[in-house]
Order: sequence, then structure tokens, then C-alpha cells
Amino acid sequence: MEGFEIHDPAFRTYVLPNAPLETLAEGFRWCEGPVWFADMNHLLFSDLPNDRIMRWSQAGGVEVFRAPSGFANGHARDLQGRLVGCSHRERCITRTEHDGRVVVLADRYRGRRLNAPNDVVVKSDGTIWFTDPPYGLMTDYEGGRQEAELPSQVFRLDPRTGTLDVVADDFVGPNGLCFSPDESLLYIGETGDLFFPTAQHIRVFDVIDGARLANGRVFHTVAPGFADGFRADEHGNIWSSAGDGVHCIGPSGALLGVVKTGGTTSNLAFGDRNRSRLFICASHRMCAIFLNVRGAQRP
Ligand code: MG
Repeated sequence: MEGFEIHDPAFRTYVLPNAPLETLAEGFRWCEGPVWFADMNHLLFSDLPNDRIMRWSQAGGVEVFRAPSGFANGHARDLQGRLVGCSHRERCITRTEHDGRVVVLADRYRGRRLNAPNDVVVKSDGTIWFTDPPYGLMTDYEGGRQEAELPSQVFRLDPRTGTLDVVADDFVGPNGLCFSPDESLLYIGETGDLFFPTAQHIRVFDVIDGARLANGRVFHTVAPGFADGFRADEHGNIWSSAGDGVHCIGPSGALLGVVKTGGTTSNLAFGDRNRSRLFICASHRMCAIFLNVRGAQRP
């Protein structure tokens, strides 16, 4: 079932009764890592188990952007607009230079290989924050089984110095992450064990001096499904993947409403006109919906 579920009157002002959910393209195995390129007017996203990154534009439709992709998962753009990505199979964070070269920014912590970086976000100071659960090491489907050398952690990378710091180490399966619009808070999804999922919540932390996290607490428990990926809007609401579509969660942690997609979603990104179109990874299809709210902009 598609449509909207209204849990709070504010949600009525965010959705448009005459803007339906659109399927942009389908035939993928599992869409992930969407990121909008306003200067190119296109969307990139991962087709994770197919080991490729796709490009979609309104004018050109969908095409392969990069294959193989190292089983790419989450994506973001840095302050220069370069693509920053997570590779499951290569167990690293990459950056695609303007000339197309793909460089590895981080693949080890204190001499040990990262697990399978899952999702990534770039802060306004250029630092790269990412989660490193073992999911991509546990199946051949998502990258190939390999041994973990590190526990699940969340990292902050300074690409200018190469310094990699742990900012959180008490997660079972850290997954999606995003900052509040003013970057005073960092939200991190916790999705638990791959085969026996327990934790299904988003935790929120205070960001201290732009570099550390403190005062972690549960922000919202997602049901049905889990918070694989999410993004903040201009008001500080969090739009999260879930088992029945996209959940809009207010800054207080209350569920405001649901964009029903008829099935599970994994990740999303604001883009297109004034960042008011929400691109939604919905399992084997890439969807989008115009909203009356804009995605948060980096301060
Ligand atoms: Mg994820």
C-alpha cells in the first residue's frame, strides 16, 4: 500500500496530496547509498549486490556509472563536491577525484583492516564520519565473506592529515548516520546482528568541539524494520528508512508520519529542485517523491 500515514498535523504540511510516489527505475538487487549532484542534475546510487554504482537523471534515465564498484554502499560528497564512498569488498573509504581517479582515504585503524564501511557523511569542516559494522564481511551477497579484524566502530577521518579517530565503540551494528542541520548532534542508526537483529533504533549524540561525541541516548526506535539510512530536513526532522516506507521523526523523537512505499527501504537522499525531492532506495527499485520540505544544507 502506498500513500501517507499522518501521526502529527505538522506532517500534513510536509507532504503534497497531488505528488505521488514515483518509481524512477527498477531491476536492481538492493539499492543503497543515494547522493544527489545538483551541479550535474543527477543521482548516483549503489546497486550493492550487483557490485555497481548507477546514475539516474530525469533526462537520461538510468545507466551504469561504475562497475565493478568494490561493492559500494553509502555515499556522500565532500566540500569540493567529490564523491566519497564506502566499499564493502575493499574495506575502505574512497574518494573519486575530479579527474575520475579513485583514491583510498582510509582502510586501516592501528594496523588492522577496517570491516566493511557502511555509510558516510561529510561535516562542514571537511571531516568524514563513517560507520564500520561487519555486515559486508558476513555474506558473499554483499561483498564476500572475510574475517573481521576490528570491532564495530564509528570513525572520524580528517582527510587533510589522514588521522582516523574512533568516536563511538559501543554499537552492535552501527549503520546510517547524519548530523542535525547545525551539526550540534549526530544521529547513528544501530541495526544489531545481521542474522538475529535486536537493536532497531537511532541513537543521538552531542557533538563536542566538532570532533567528539558525548551523552549518547536512544532517539527513536524504528518499527517495523530498521534505520539503515536517514537524512535530516531543514527543520531538523529525521527521514529514515523503515520496513514499510520512510518514517519522518521530529526532533523530539516522535514519529510524525510515514511515506508508505509498500515495502522495505534502505536509504534516502534529498535532491533535485531546492532539495525538495526525496530519493528513496526501496529494495529492487529506486523511487522518488516531491515534498513540501527541503533537505538540510551543510552549514
Ligand atoms: Mg546502511
